[in-house]
Parts: sequence; structure tokens; C-alpha cells
Amino acid sequence: MVDTGVVPSPSSDPALSRILVVEDESSINDVIATALRYQGHSVVQLADGRDGLAETARAHFDLVVLDVMLPGLDGFEICRRMREAGTLTPVLFLTARSDTEDRIRGFVTGGDDYLTKPFSVNELVLRVGAILRRAGTAAPSNLLVFDDLTLDPATREVRRSGRLVELSPTEFSLLHFLLVNANHVVSKAQILVDVWADDYDGSENIVELYIGYLRRKIDDGRPPLIHTKRGVGYVLRTAER
Ligand code: CA
Repeated sequence: MVDTGVVPSPSSDPALSRILVVEDESSINDVIATALRYQGHSVVQLADGRDGLAETARAHFDLVVLDVMLPGLDGFEICRRMREAGTLTPVLFLTARSDTEDRIRGFVTGGDDYLTKPFSVNELVLRVGAILRRAGTAAPSNLLVFDDLTLDPATREVRRSGRLVELSPTEFSLLHFLLVNANHVVSKAQILVDVWADDYDGSENIVELYIGYLRRKIDDGRPPLIHTKRGVGYVLRTAER
């Protein structure tokens, strides 16, 4: 299980970034992950192409370091399917000399880049920093991220697994409150004060009602993130604890 803390992201400060490394050569994967963690990044390591693609759909990352030659699914195919699914996370490809320049160029667009093996770890760290800075200036944001759920206060866009979720203004405020308090139980009374403020002096049942609406939209067919703490309130968390 990856860590699921709420982090502001993508950020102009690369030290707050979440990076996925998909590389089947474990020694290379470890060297990359160690170097990136040393830079302050949070790193998820995977070795299989299909696992890598699934992880990009499941959780938010600021950058994916993608080996091209992978078991399961090659790096170019993973990137193609990510873009098809609407995931615009920048990719740094790790290519072998045998990959032709033309083939690589076809896949390297926008914020993407590539490194040819063998490369120095310093070079990799520099490239990663440059990509994150570009992404950070392109999209300054206070994006709230929890597991595969993102909420952008600026655009008021909410996504689960990359898919846009339409929320009413009240549902949006309720989800925002749950997100900023992720992993902490909040009571119905606290929710009423924060979300409804002075606009409502009825019963706390309205909170239950709106939690129900939100669940149907956010947790619909997916591992639930909104949990009831009987007699206490609600908490946004992953199912594993
Ligand atoms: Ca490989």
C-alpha cells in the first residue's frame, strides 16, 4: 500500500512530489528510488508494466519514471494508455540504445523526456527536477490528493481514478472538508458548522443525507473512501486500516 497522506500537488516545490518508478531491473529501480527519496520525493516502486499502468489509474503522481522494456506491457504502451485514459502525468522514459530515436520522439511530448541507459543518477535527478519545475509552473495549484481522489479548489474539479465527478456546491464543500481532515474522524456537528455555516438550523440528518449523495458519486463501484464511525461521525480513509 502506498502512503495516502493529503499532499498539495503538483507543487512548484519539487520536494513534495509523488513519483512512480516502473523498472524491472531491481538494482536500477532501487538506485533511482533511493536518489529520488534523498531529494525528498515520495516514491512508489513497481517492476511490471501492467502493475505500473494500473497504479497510474489508481493514484495521483506528479511524475512517472518509465522503463521502456518491461514485462507485461512496454513503457510506450503504458504511456499511450495513460494518455488515452486522460492521465497527463509527465513521463521520463528510460530507453535502451537499441530504441530508435524516431520511436522515442513519437512518445515524448509536452512535459515528457527520456534518458538513454546507462545514465548517471545525477543526470536523472536533474531531469526529474526540470520536469517537475515545468509541470509546477504550468499548473500552480492547491490540488488536494487522497489515494486516487483529487479535488482542485481553483477549478472545482473532482476526480476519482482520473474520471471527472460532478458534484453540487454543497457536496463539493462537504468533500473538501472531509479531504482536509483526511484520516481524522469529523462529527456531524463539525460538518454542519463548516459546510452549512449559518445557512441551516435544522437537524444533523441533513449531513447523513449528503454523505449518502457523496458516497454514491465518489465511492460508486470503487473501494470506499468515505467511512462511518458509528455514533461519532465520518472519516475519509482507505479501506486497509
Ligand atoms: Ca527493463
